[in-house]
Amino acid sequence: MNLPGAQPARQQNPGGSGPSGRSLDPHLGRYARRAEGMRASEVRALFAVASRPEVVSLAGGMPNLAALPLDALAEDVARLVAAEGQTVLQYGSAQGLPTLREQICEVMALEGISAHPDDVVVTVGSQMALDMVTRVFCDPGDVVLAEAPSYVGALSTFSAYQAEVVHVEMDDHGLVPEALRQALGALAARGRRVKFLYTIPNFHNPAGVTLAVARRSEVLEICAEHGVLVVEDNPYGLLGFSDQTYPALRSVEQDNVVYLGSFSKTFASGLRVGWALAPHAVREKLVLAAESATLCPPAFTQAVVSRFLSRYDWRGQVKQFRAAYRERRDAMLSALDQHLPAGCRWTRPEGGFYVWLTVPEGVDTKAMLPRAVTQRVAYVPGTAFYADGLGSRQMRLSYCYPTPERIREGVRRLASVLEGELEL
Ligand code: PMP
Repeated sequence: MNLPGAQPARQQNPGGSGPSGRSLDPHLGRYARRAEGMRASEVRALFAVASRPEVVSLAGGMPNLAALPLDALAEDVARLVAAEGQTVLQYGSAQGLPTLREQICEVMALEGISAHPDDVVVTVGSQMALDMVTRVFCDPGDVVLAEAPSYVGALSTFSAYQAEVVHVEMDDHGLVPEALRQALGALAARGRRVKFLYTIPNFHNPAGVTLAVARRSEVLEICAEHGVLVVEDNPYGLLGFSDQTYPALRSVEQDNVVYLGSFSKTFASGLRVGWALAPHAVREKLVLAAESATLCPPAFTQAVVSRFLSRYDWRGQVKQFRAAYRERRDAMLSALDQHLPAGCRWTRPEGGFYVWLTVPEGVDTKAMLPRAVTQRVAYVPGTAFYADGLGSRQMRLSYCYPTPERIREGVRRLASVLEGELEL
């Protein structure tokens, strides 16, 4: 099965007039050209509506933190400030806390990566790493390849740096190597400069699929042949429901891969601690980029993560997260099987947070959203995950945050909205 988009969505008003027809932004003539590429994502605009308690939100990708030992953490954080406040409340190194960088190497070893702490740069979430990588590599007009669909936060970063995103087809086994080869060939024939392939190999956001192990070397080989860097974004890799981990692309190829990791899904997203592992020369540039953005990542949150890794059974904690997400995934899949009308199809994730749903022809998920919210269920329309306006027959459903009961209720409501659309 392909993961296609559908018809292009209508062009958004680029002039800056608000949805209620409010007057133009008075600063419009002043912004740098790159600010034109900065638009509020559809996900963000949704959060306000979807956070109303009566709405079952299958929209946001918020990790479920209920399993964290909050009381113990609170005591531990207090001890940290008392004992090491002078250091952990101080500026730190731009590259990140050395102890944490060593621990990050141990975390990455779980996915077969052998790395040196010197090649790790700690960032404010992997989102900041994405920003740095794009800043370091992309001039306006450069091409970035990304899966179709792709992570909305990465697309907005690429757009902010005025890079052009060219999507590459995926199927149930992830990125299709032949489609990658063709895309690179076509771009080379047109003389276009491709800077990197941005890929989420494991438990994809939003598609919920995983790149088949047999395809991994091929993807790397194709990129190497075309002189294209690979940016491997892997925030969900440890959240496989069969407790299985897949070999990271970076474990197969060291010199042509920048790997991005995060503690947002395996510990706490609010601490904003992520990292990049990069070939040595790239690492230097990333540190300089990080320095100009933030001077250094917060010493405090890094120390909290480091303490968590050294003092808690963090592997056991990840197992608990997995169990919670597996239960929610099961609830969503069985509710979809039970309630959705004929003609819908969806992916069956083996890990992570998301299901990608394709609805029957004639239904436009973006146009349907207000009606869904009226019926107290929210999702993210597929168009948010494409740079080129596709995705109007798709939507992303997240099962990470609501309880299984709420998920079942949300899917029941969604099914009734869809049935209403199909009768129109
Ligand atoms: N990449 C992907 C694929 C994501 O889903 C997310 C968060 N939703 C991020 C990066 C950013 O994560 P963070 O900045 O919290 O590490």
